[in-house]
This record gives sequence, C-alpha cells and structure tokens, in this order.
Amino acid sequence: MIPGARLIILGRQGAGKGTQCVRLSRHYVVPHISTGDMLRAAVREGTEFGVAAKEVMEQGRLVSDDLMVGLVDERLGRLDAASRGYILDGFPRTVSQAKALDDITADRPIHVVIDLDVPRDVVLARILARRVCRDCGTNYTATGAERQPWICDVCGGDVMPRDDDTPDAVNRRLDLYEEQTAPLIEFYGNTDRLVVVDGTLRPDSVFTALTEVIERSR
Ligand code: AMP
Repeated sequence: MIPGARLIILGRQGAGKGTQCVRLSRHYVVPHISTGDMLRAAVREGTEFGVAAKEVMEQGRLVSDDLMVGLVDERLGRLDAASRGYILDGFPRTVSQAKALDDITADRPIHVVIDLDVPRDVVLARILARRVCRDCGTNYTATGAERQPWICDVCGGDVMPRDDDTPDAVNRRLDLYEEQTAPLIEFYGNTDRLVVVDGTLRPDSVFTALTEVIERSR
C-alpha cells in the first residue's frame, strides 16, 4: 500500500473488523482509528463525555452524530493520520456521518470502502463468544471452558465480556445496523468506492483478501 492511503472498513459488529483492522494497521504501519475504542477509552478515563457515552453504549444505541463527527474530525487532523493515512473502523455508522466525513476529507478523499460481509446469525454467535481485555483491549473468543474472568496474554489484565455484549444489546445493535448502517453500502456503492469482502472465510484468508483489495485500490 502506498503511504497515505485512507480506508474505511464497514461491516456488522462481530464481523471480525476490529481484529483485521489491528492486523492491517500493523502490516501497513498506518493508524487504526476505531471510534468504539476511542469511546471505551473515554469511559475508562471517566471523562464527562465518557460517562454519557457509557450509558448509550450499554443500551446498544448510537452516540449522537455531532459528537462522533467532532471526535473523528479532531483525530483525522493529527499528524500521523495526515501523513500515513488511516483505517477507519466503526465510523461512519450513519449516512449523515458519511456525508460529514466526505466534507471533512474533501481535500484528502477516502480511497476505498470495504464491506466485510458476514450474515447476521453468524455475527450473533461470534459476538456472544467475544471476550475483551479490560486493560489493553485485546480480543479473544471464548470456548466455554475458560475460568471467568481469565488473564490477558498480552498485559495480564482481566479478560471479560464487553459490558455492551449482552444478548439484548447485541440484538438491538444488529437491528440498528440494518436500519442505520446498511444504507451506507448503497451510499458508497453509488460512488464506486465500495468493495465487498467475504468475512466468513478463515481469518488469514480474509486478511489476504483485504490486502489484495487495498493493493489494487491505489
Ligand atoms: P464498536 O466498538 O464499534 O462495536 O462500538 C461500540 C459502541 O460505541 C457502539 O455500539 C455505539 O454505541 C458506539 N459507537 C461507536 N462508533 C460509533 C459511531 N460512529 N456512531 C455512533 N456510535 C458509535
């Protein structure tokens, strides 16, 4: 990938976006900008914004477009994103956020939008098995045999389900995806920036497919 590439990875929550984005960001040495991670960091820090976001996230709702656009605008303006490009994960999530992103990036447009496609029933099972380190955010998949909580291999923190991964909240988020985020497929499809990648393959095959799309995109 040529330095400076700007990507969006779309897909249902639990499609494996986060893990693939971390791997892509290490592979290409570009910032991985995850709005979910930014919000969880604000929650951990206990900022006023974090306290408000925590409630919204636990209910499986979306944080307001204004707040999210402000957060992303500030992040994309930092030196690393301007010079190295970036991988956006979890943003945009609504057509209104996508339109605002087009305005923010008018001088340096997004090169490619990848939809990591995994059907709803598959992601539901994956999310309910998802565990995350409270301290460093590393993702794991539970087999059911582990002690609760277990210890993170990376930092020694507690590995637990995310607070917003209850079955009710997960189903609400998947409904929200169909209502609010799925229209982005058409939004980006109409501008010829969209490529669909099958996210049901093995993680290594998905990674290879993603890198092929990214190499072709510039
Ligand atoms: P994620 O880690 O991407 O699954 O995001 C976790 C939660 O953070 C979501 O369920 C939303 O409540 C909130 N969130 C993350 N990104 C956005 C966004 N772009 N717009 C609104 N809410 C968001």
